[in-house]
Amino acid sequence: MSDHAPRTVERHCDVAVVGGSAAGLAAALQLGRQRRSVIVVDAGEPRNAPAAHMHGYLGREGVPPSELSTVGREEVRSYGGEVLGGRVTRVIRSDDDRFRVELLGGHSIVARRVLAATGLVDELPDIDGLAERWGRDVIHCPFCHGFEVRDRPIVQIVTHPMGLHPAGLFRQLTDRLTVVLHDHVDVERSQVDVLQAAGVEIIHGQVRRIVPDDDGHVAAVELADNERIEADAVAVGPRFRVRAEPFTSLGLRTAAHPTGLGDFVETDATGETAVPGLYAAGNVTDPSQRSRRPPPTAVGSAP
Ligand SMILES: Cc1cc2nc3c(=O)[nH]c(=O)nc-3n(C[C@H](O)[C@H](O)[C@H](O)COP(=O)(O)OP(=O)(O)OC[C@H]3O[C@@H](n4cnc5c(N)ncnc54)[C@H](O)[C@@H]3O)c2cc1C
Repeated sequence: MSDHAPRTVERHCDVAVVGGSAAGLAAALQLGRQRRSVIVVDAGEPRNAPAAHMHGYLGREGVPPSELSTVGREEVRSYGGEVLGGRVTRVIRSDDDRFRVELLGGHSIVARRVLAATGLVDELPDIDGLAERWGRDVIHCPFCHGFEVRDRPIVQIVTHPMGLHPAGLFRQLTDRLTVVLHDHVDVERSQVDVLQAAGVEIIHGQVRRIVPDDDGHVAAVELADNERIEADAVAVGPRFRVRAEPFTSLGLRTAAHPTGLGDFVETDATGETAVPGLYAAGNVTDPSQRSRRPPPTAVGSAP
C-alpha cells in the first residue's frame, strides 16, 4: 500500500444505529443502558431542521431541534455510546452473518445488529414559493406549529384526497381558515360540508404561487385567476419518501403507506424488519410519528 493511501478504519460493536436524531439517539440511549456497545452514525439532516423550535415535546417544549440532538448525544455518550458524524452508503452482510456498515469515505462498522433510524424526506407540491418557507410559515402539522399561528389567517392548500384531514384541527386554532382544493383534487363532499358549516371558506382553484411580504414572510396565496387570499401561514401536506437506500443491499423493501402518501418500512412488534437482525424506528416506520414518541427498543434485547 502506498504511504499516501487514505487510512480507513473498521470498528466493531453490538449495534450500529444509522441516523442519530430523535429515534436513533433514543434507541442508542437504551442500548447503552443495557450495556450494549453502540455506534451511531448521523448525517446531521433531521426532518425538522428548517423549524426554529420544537413543540409538543414534554420536558423540551419550544427548544430548537438542534438542542435535542446535542443533549441526546451527550446522554448517549454518558453511557459509553459513540456518536459519529458521517453518512452510511451501504449495509451488507459480512461472512460471519454480521453486518458491515459502510460509510462515505471508506470507514466501516461491523455490527451484530443494525437499527435503521434514517427518517424520511418530505416531498412538497411543486408550487412557487412553498419550499423556501417550509418549516417556518409553511407548515404541515397543527400539533407541531399550529398554536404559533392561532387566530391568524391560514390558507390550507389541499393537493391529495387525504389532505383535508387536518383542516378541522386548524379550524380549532383559527376562525380565519381558507381551504383551497388545488387542481381538482378529489375530496369527500361530506368533509367539505362539515368544514363549510364550521365557517371555513372552501375555494376550488389552482394555486400559482406564495406571495411574500417585504420581509420574506408569507403574505398571500395567489391563484391562477390572479385572486389573492390573505395568509400569515400556509398549511400543506407533503408526500413522504423514506430514506431506505442504505439497506436495499440487504434486500429491504419499502411498502406503500395506507394513506397513499408515500412509503414506509414495515416492522414486527419488536421493531425488526423483514431482514433478520435489521431493526427500524422513527419516521422510517411511521411518517406520522412525531419526536415525542419513543421508538421500540426491542433491538436492545439482541443476544
Ligand atoms: C418542518 C417540521 C417541523 C416539525 N416539528 C415538530 C415538532 O415541533 N414537534 C414534533 O414532535 N415533531 C415535529 N416534526 C416531526 C419530527 O421532525 C419527526 O417526527 C422526527 O424528526 C422524526 O425523527 P427520526 O429520528 O425518525 O428522523 P429524523 O429526525 O429525520 O432523523 C433522521 C436522521 O438520520 C440521518 N440520516 C439519514 N440517512 C442517513 C445515512 N445514510 N447515514 C447517516 N445518517 C443518515 C439524517 O441526517 C437525520 O439526522 C416536524 C417535522 C417537520 C417536517
